[in-house]
This record gives sequence, C-alpha cells and structure tokens, in this order.
Amino acid sequence: MNLIFLGPPGAGKGTQAKIVEERAGLVQVSTGDMLRAAVRNETELGKKAKEFMDAGDLVPDEVVIGIIEERIQEDDCKNGFILDGFPRTIEQAEALDKILDQINFALDHVVNFQVPDEELVERLLGRAKEEGRTDDNPESIKNRLNVFTEKTQPLIDYYDKTGKLRNIDGVGTVEEIAGRVKEAINA
Ligand code: AMP
Repeated sequence: MNLIFLGPPGAGKGTQAKIVEERAGLVQVSTGDMLRAAVRNETELGKKAKEFMDAGDLVPDEVVIGIIEERIQEDDCKNGFILDGFPRTIEQAEALDKILDQINFALDHVVNFQVPDEELVERLLGRAKEEGRTDDNPESIKNRLNVFTEKTQPLIDYYDKTGKLRNIDGVGTVEEIAGRVKEAINA
C-alpha cells in the first residue's frame, strides 16, 4: 500500500506515519527528515536547502522531486511507503504521478490531516522547545502556515478529484487520531 500524508506543519503527519509504519510494515519517507539530515551532514543538498528551511520557505521543486524519485525506488519501498511532507506543490504532485506511472506503482490513499491554525501554532511552538528545530520560531512558523495555504492546500482538490482523499480530524490524542487513520486506510 502506498500512502500520502497531507496536512499543514504540526498536523501530526510524522507521528502518525511512524505508527502506520510499525503497524502496516510500510516505510515512512519524509522529505523534511531527509533534508534535515543533509543539513546536519553539510552535504551539497544540505547547503542548498538550509536557507529555505530556516525561513520556512519550500525547497525548490526540482530538488525535492529528485530526492523522492531516488528514494521510492530503493528496495525497502517495494512493500509500500508513506510519503510524509511530499508532495507540497501541484508541480510536485504532477511529477510524482509521472514517476509512479513509470515504475508501475499506484497510490492507495491520500490522508489529509485537518487541524485549526491556532492549534498548529501552539503545537509548533511546543515542539520548538522540545526538539530545538531551527525552523520552529514564530516568524518561520507563520511563513510555513502561509506557504501551506498558498502552495499545498490546492493539493486537497487535486487528490479529491482522484477519489483517494481521506479527510481526518487531526485534533485529539495520538491514539484517537491513529484510530481514525486506521479506519480511513483500512490497515
Ligand atoms: P517538514 O519537516 O516536512 O515540516 O519540512 C521542513 C522543511 O523542509 C519545510 O519547511 C521545507 O523548507 C522543507 N521541505 C520538506 N519537504 C518539502 C517539500 N516536499 N517541498 C519543498 N520543501 C520541503
């Protein structure tokens, strides 16, 4: 089974992806995690991505599309994957469709986590204290929420048209939300 987890920053995609990864034997593929690792290791990719990430802007499409194209063709993705934080633009979604077509993979569900803005800001500020992410500061948070509305929100319509969109209420305990995800994807 191949899934996309869609939703604003702080919606709980990563937390829920880890739960489904364990339960259903899928692999979590997080572009955010991959980019943060690249920044930490000071690779060429990391050097390109850092400024965008710190400002809360999106890393250019061609960069993340390249990363995903390689990653989902690795062996561990053959039994299914959860894309966490990708795609984030219509361009990325269209590129993903092409890549999946070429390698004969299909998407099963696009799980859309819905959380009100006020709660997102609270969660992201809390995470800033716990994890010390350099992009969890008030300015970057505000920008990331705006970027989501502008660039990523249109994907909800894009995937609704495919019949694969599953809207999830992302407010509640981790366990409650995990239960809703389970029901939505039937696994
Ligand atoms: P995340 O951990 O998914 O919130 O991602 C952290 C940051 O990494 C984002 O604010 C972007 O700067 C960058 N990033 C992650 N995924 C993508 C993507 N699909 N497209 C562009 N930038 C991304």
